[in-house]
Amino acid sequence: SYQKVLEENRKLYNQVQDLKGNIRVYCRVRPFLPGQQNGLSTVDHIDGENITITTSSKYGKEGKKLFTFNKVFGPSATQAEVFADTQPLIRSVLDGFNVCIFAYGQTGSGKTHTMTGPSDLTKETLGVNYRALSDLFLISEQRRDVISYDISVQMVEIYNEQVRDLLTPDVEIRNSSQKGFNVPDANLVPVTSTSDVMNLMNLGHKNRAVSATAMNDRSSRSHSCLTVHVQGRNMTSGAILRGSMHLVDLAGSERVDKSEAVGDRLKEATHINKSLSALGDVISSLAQKNSHVPYRNSKLTQLLQDSLGGQAKTLMFVHISPELHAVGETLSTLKFAERVSTIELGTARVNKESSDVKELKEQIAGLKAALARKE
Ligand code: ADP
Ligand code: MG
Repeated sequence: SYQKVLEENRKLYNQVQDLKGNIRVYCRVRPFLPGQQNGLSTVDHIDGENITITTSSKYGKEGKKLFTFNKVFGPSATQAEVFADTQPLIRSVLDGFNVCIFAYGQTGSGKTHTMTGPSDLTKETLGVNYRALSDLFLISEQRRDVISYDISVQMVEIYNEQVRDLLTPDVEIRNSSQKGFNVPDANLVPVTSTSDVMNLMNLGHKNRAVSATAMNDRSSRSHSCLTVHVQGRNMTSGAILRGSMHLVDLAGSERVDKSEAVGDRLKEATHINKSLSALGDVISSLAQKNSHVPYRNSKLTQLLQDSLGGQAKTLMFVHISPELHAVGETLSTLKFAERVSTIELGTARVNKESSDVKELKEQIAGLKAALARKE
């Protein structure tokens, strides 16, 4: 039966996921913007999984630093190429998994470009959000005879640790304390096509812009989260499966100079700082398979708790700007990325283990020899 195929599929998927890990980190380098075409880049070298950054010579310490991720996309990577490596996650949502996709990076590094696309959107430049949704509709349509899917979306913003519904603004989202905070109380809108989603996203973006002023580009100081809930009903058995996908455009990760920021700016900076480190702490403790995962330290991690860890899959796009003056932020972004990725830890552990084992073996051999001499 199809249910069996699904289960088999799921088992296989889990095995593959276990091998690869449920947390993946992709790095994307923004190209130079028009008008700065021939700028000098901090990016020294890129291949499929590695990126080398030339550190600044400003302090007389020129050097190169290598970082390794699941994937590195150079400045010429297209939206389609970036999405191609995201696609398997989309299918798993329809198989009943929870997925989180994050865009991390300093303001101007390309987070919104990856998730939504540029402001003059064309078919080619559509971002992950649109492509993910259109895939969801496409695949659910293909399965129509076996599973009937209901798809609905929510769109919320987290600003200064306040969660706001972007589809029904002016309604502060309550913490439904019984369920913890995992199911946002926000308007859940049923959708049946990508154009439905496009319209809702436009509405959400408009509502978000209302609260921004010229001096306060709110979009870079708040996290925005498009959540897609999927419910599938098996036509023959009646079995229900549920999956969800959170598409999160995070607040800019740049460190605001504490000595310069005052008032609202300082408050915003403090909240952003706190929630991004909380996210880093959660993902890195999941990556290390720690028994305690500190979800409670921010609204963001509370909101996404059910979709981080366990069987859930996480994809973090870390974005960097190529400009020399951004090198400080670039390095701290890549360090953050390294901390939340399983790769470095995984290989580090393996290497450490093998040298530990070697050392232990030598110790044992030494002790045995000593014992033999005594006897
Ligand atoms: P962020 O959301 O991180 O603040 P944006 O996505 O708004 O940054 O990107 C800043 C500018 O750079 C925008 O004009 C955007 O269109 C452009 N940009 C970012 N990434 C790319 C890319 N991969 N290719 C072309 N232009 C890009
Ligand atoms: Mg943005």
